Amino acid sequence: MSVLVVGSVALDSVETPFGKADEVVGGSAVYFASSASHFAPVQLVGVVGNDYPVHKLDALRARGVDLAGLEQAEGESFRWRGRYRHDLNAAETLETRLGVFSHFRPKIPAGLRKAPFVFLGNIDPRLQLEVLRQVERPKLVACDTMNFWIESRRADLVELLKHVDVLLLNDGEARQLTEHANLVKAARWILQRGPKHVIIKKGEHGAFMFSGNTVFFAPAYPLEDVFDPTGAGDSFAGGFMGYLARSGRLDEAHFRRAVVHGCTMGSFVVERFSNQRLLEIGSGDIRTRLDEFRRLVAFEEELPA
Ligand code: AMP
Repeated sequence: MSVLVVGSVALDSVETPFGKADEVVGGSAVYFASSASHFAPVQLVGVVGNDYPVHKLDALRARGVDLAGLEQAEGESFRWRGRYRHDLNAAETLETRLGVFSHFRPKIPAGLRKAPFVFLGNIDPRLQLEVLRQVERPKLVACDTMNFWIESRRADLVELLKHVDVLLLNDGEARQLTEHANLVKAARWILQRGPKHVIIKKGEHGAFMFSGNTVFFAPAYPLEDVFDPTGAGDSFAGGFMGYLARSGRLDEAHFRRAVVHGCTMGSFVVERFSNQRLLEIGSGDIRTRLDEFRRLVAFEEELPA
């Protein structure tokens, strides 16, 4: 089954303790599609300005991502400038230039309105709501957000929660949205407002999935060299949704495996700038890392006598 993603298509300028990248391909929809396309067909809806180096998206097309829903509008592309210091879990936004995003009205092409899996990538929650008005009862809707929108569009975001099945966000965002310092309480707050599952990501400390009365935890892969954390959240979402779309099953066991697929894809993207690493890897690399994940958490319940 295929996945429809709507989100930002950006030019990112990123500084980490290990180097700098200027105006590289980024954005929530790009990272998501680069990751999810390893598991399922992906259709991307978004907008770029007339200054966007669209040929740089050919690599996505080559991975089978359908870019028919990507509009090119008059004006500047969305740009994000961020910095990570030694705590690679915390991105510091230096500048957000919405450009063509400020006038963007997502139009879901008729052929994509029946998409069974929908991911609302990090964009204005009003646009995320507009997308949901255009699609026909998907099997699963997941969404992401960030501090920028929690601050500026809180009421819309709370309205959006009523219409999504899964919310993915990081621990800082969960605390900011719910005003609970405790993540269990924060998850409860979110689950009471619509989503059936909430995934709280904690960067190098793994991710929790809260669903009804159950909690699942997956560690992050212990990488020795993390180069640039940008896109880890969206790549996680891509692995998570891509796996569910491929399996077509939405029970607890598949959701748990989907979280591990999310952690796996997040662990690849941070090894290089932009989405480069996701374009290099193949199913063998993913399989190997999934096996390493299994070994990472396997233990004997009872010690042998
Ligand atoms: P993450 O997966 O959370 O690291 O997301 C990183 C991506 O989010 C970058 O490629 C940015 O272009 C994009 N981004 C940053 N700020 C925003 C925003 N306010 N709205 C939409 N996308 C954003």
